[in-house]
Amino acid sequence: MSKCPIMTATNGSPIPDNQNSMTAGPRGPLLAQDWQLFEKHASFNRERIPERVVHAKGSGAYGKLTITGDISKYTKAKVFEVGKETECFLRFSTVAGEKGAADAERDVRGFAVKFYTEEGNWDIVGNNTPVFFIRDPYKFMDFIHSQKRDPRTNLRSGTAQWDFWSQSPEALHQITILMSDRGQPATYRHLNGYGSHTYSLINDDGERYWVKFHFKTEQGHKTNTGEQVAEIIGNDRESHQEDLFNAIENGDFPKWKLKVQIMSEDEAEKTSYNPFDLTKVWPHSEFPLIEVGTLELNRNPENYFAEVEQAAFTPANIVPGIGHSPDKVLQMRILSYGDAQRYRIGANHQHLPVNAARCPVHNYQRDGAMRFDGNGGGSVNYEPNSFEGPIEDASAKEPAVQISGDADRYDHRDGNDDFTQAGDLFRIMPKDEQNRLMDTIAGAMAGVPSSITDRQIEYFMKADVEYGVGIANRLDKS
Ligand code: NDP
Repeated sequence: MSKCPIMTATNGSPIPDNQNSMTAGPRGPLLAQDWQLFEKHASFNRERIPERVVHAKGSGAYGKLTITGDISKYTKAKVFEVGKETECFLRFSTVAGEKGAADAERDVRGFAVKFYTEEGNWDIVGNNTPVFFIRDPYKFMDFIHSQKRDPRTNLRSGTAQWDFWSQSPEALHQITILMSDRGQPATYRHLNGYGSHTYSLINDDGERYWVKFHFKTEQGHKTNTGEQVAEIIGNDRESHQEDLFNAIENGDFPKWKLKVQIMSEDEAEKTSYNPFDLTKVWPHSEFPLIEVGTLELNRNPENYFAEVEQAAFTPANIVPGIGHSPDKVLQMRILSYGDAQRYRIGANHQHLPVNAARCPVHNYQRDGAMRFDGNGGGSVNYEPNSFEGPIEDASAKEPAVQISGDADRYDHRDGNDDFTQAGDLFRIMPKDEQNRLMDTIAGAMAGVPSSITDRQIEYFMKADVEYGVGIANRLDKS
């Protein structure tokens, strides 16, 4: 007796023959009544959901966050209680390429983690870089268009990239990271993750502290040279996926130390830079890293589509004791990530197993396409009500954030230093890394009109004269 279950159509009825379609005679045409055949094709035609516009290609795994350092004076979040273990799901990704892009390409890497805490899901939707190319979300679409395919040639365009960057001095810091060795990580295991934005922590006394989250790789940094990348991509477009999957499958669980930088509200008034500016880091010498715990990945998903492709992250997902900040890009992402997931997966995407909270969820949201979780059953669907429906909990209220100012469109470049921190990064690099950085930038600028490269070189010059001169010299030679 075979142990295989009986194959069925989606309505549950047995499939009598999965090899031969129904035809009028052995040579004849198909019959419209072969509903099993049509169901199979119709399902296949709908297998793909819209690809993410950015971060399309990704790899994911489950794991746990274990807290070892006490930060209870800054936050009441239960996920941070010493000794606490919280299940999580981490999706790594490349950013600019499409779903078929090669993993090893030079790019920023996404580092998005969903912590299934007992107080709700907390998502950090970060990158392997502590900063980003823009500081005003109004420019995000323009930035991404300049990095993706040219509308006419359908090719990536160095001219478009540098045209945008050379008119966006705030991008310089992130360009320096992207074009450095760390722009070509060897694997997803060998890179840091950063929350990038400033968030807040809120303690039991209702006091707020600003915070930056860092995930430092325990595997060490490992990067590829340009030659290695060319060779890897020639043989294998899935090198990061393969590495992560196999490491976990072999019990070699990758780990990251979770560290935080903390800034008081008073200190935030005094920094020379805007601490809510996504193009800036907080120098470690002023705001030292505090070790909080370890994130370990230890379980591969069983089904890539169900768990990685349908994984939906949003920085809107926070829990009591963790809050947002006035960072403009974060503010927009709070809205736009959920919006993108509702378009990509649907109104009820948060009920899918990979996205669902592990704690009870009670509210009055109902219906919508593909509502598959019982939809609240017969329970009351409005509030206030007299039937013991869920009620609000004032203890979850955040302390007020002081906001003032006249509503206007303020020039975010006015008086903003876009050069010092990019120069700081250049200056901490050893000479050989500086040389590789400048070689890479000059190579990426090949064929770009000099009206654009001249504009960009001025920025490198302002960050560090050696940086600017080094690139200018390389371009003259080429
Ligand atoms: P520190 O000397 O205290 O730290 C330097 C930081 O730079 C380390 O976090 C290191 O990461 C990281 N780093 C080293 N090489 C690269 C690279 N090629 N690309 C990206 N990051 C790299 O410096 P400061 O805090 O004073 O900051 C100096 C500069 O370092 C900043 O302008 C910024 O560009 C960069 N940096 C700063 C971070 C911060 O949060 N302060 C975070 C990341 C980068 P690791 O420890 O993993 O080797």
